Amino acid sequence: MSRRQAVYTACFAPTHKAVDSLDDPNDEAKRKEERKYTRQFNDALKKQLQRSVPTDATDAEILAASQQLAQNGAEMVEAMSDLIAASGMLGIETAEDQFGTIGIAFDLSFVNQQVLENLRTAGIQEMGLINGTSNKRLQSALQAWQNDGRSLQDLSEAIAQWVESGKPLPTLVRSLERSFGGVRNGKSRGLDIAVTEVTRFFNKALNESYKQASQETGLTIEMRFVTANDSLVCPICAPLGGLTFSGDGAVPTSRERQKAKGQTVGLSDKFVHPGGKGAAGTYKGQSFGIPPLHVRCRCDIVPVVVV
Ligand SMILES: [Zn+2]
Ligand SMILES: [Zn+2]
Repeated sequence: MSRRQAVYTACFAPTHKAVDSLDDPNDEAKRKEERKYTRQFNDALKKQLQRSVPTDATDAEILAASQQLAQNGAEMVEAMSDLIAASGMLGIETAEDQFGTIGIAFDLSFVNQQVLENLRTAGIQEMGLINGTSNKRLQSALQAWQNDGRSLQDLSEAIAQWVESGKPLPTLVRSLERSFGGVRNGKSRGLDIAVTEVTRFFNKALNESYKQASQETGLTIEMRFVTANDSLVCPICAPLGGLTFSGDGAVPTSRERQKAKGQTVGLSDKFVHPGGKGAAGTYKGQSFGIPPLHVRCRCDIVPVVVV
């Protein structure tokens, strides 16, 4: 692995444990959710693929079915909706804990339903994006197969065999394995989706909870960007989380300095990348919403009460 690749692994690696996961007592609960939903999404993606390229159908019927990918994703929707409920509740509970540690007792239980409803709306949009990616990958695989002069019926047989017995897909369409739930070296699309979406809905729940708390208490509350205090954090997340990025990677620092330097903005505002040396410089001035900032980002936000 080159040094440059190594730089990115704290934000991306599935099993990486932060040296000092700042203010995040629920880290292990999130990891557990990620593992559970990785399996669910991978299973759901396989079923979605098999239904979208049915066996015992003509090539024309297969082409028509492959356009209906969204309709074949009931299990995807179910996994996403479970994930949103679980990550949303964890976010709400974490917000309560965070307020507790800074001396504000605030019961968010009466806003649960509204927060979760807002998350569900965002979830429908996310599902559309995920299906859009799946659809693009499937259509280009079908195209490649047909360009090779082969019948889609043969492809549908190969897909059924892969899903049912694990027999590898032909090289020409091998990318379908990765796109639709296959696991290789511990990596899978299900893992990408699970980690990214747990981060998204956990942080959305935090952000909405902070807004509710601000409204109810009249306090001005802002949010601070938190990343792992680790040399392997990526050049997008490290400077926002208060780590200096040198040409070689992120430079771990004290908790105090990470707290002081982590970017803090209003609850509806964007984080603006401060730049940095090496790869971090390319992001200078770009604005980012609450994490995830990229696929498999695991950064968080914490509340900051302005006094
Ligand atoms: Zn990152
Ligand atoms: Zn990140």
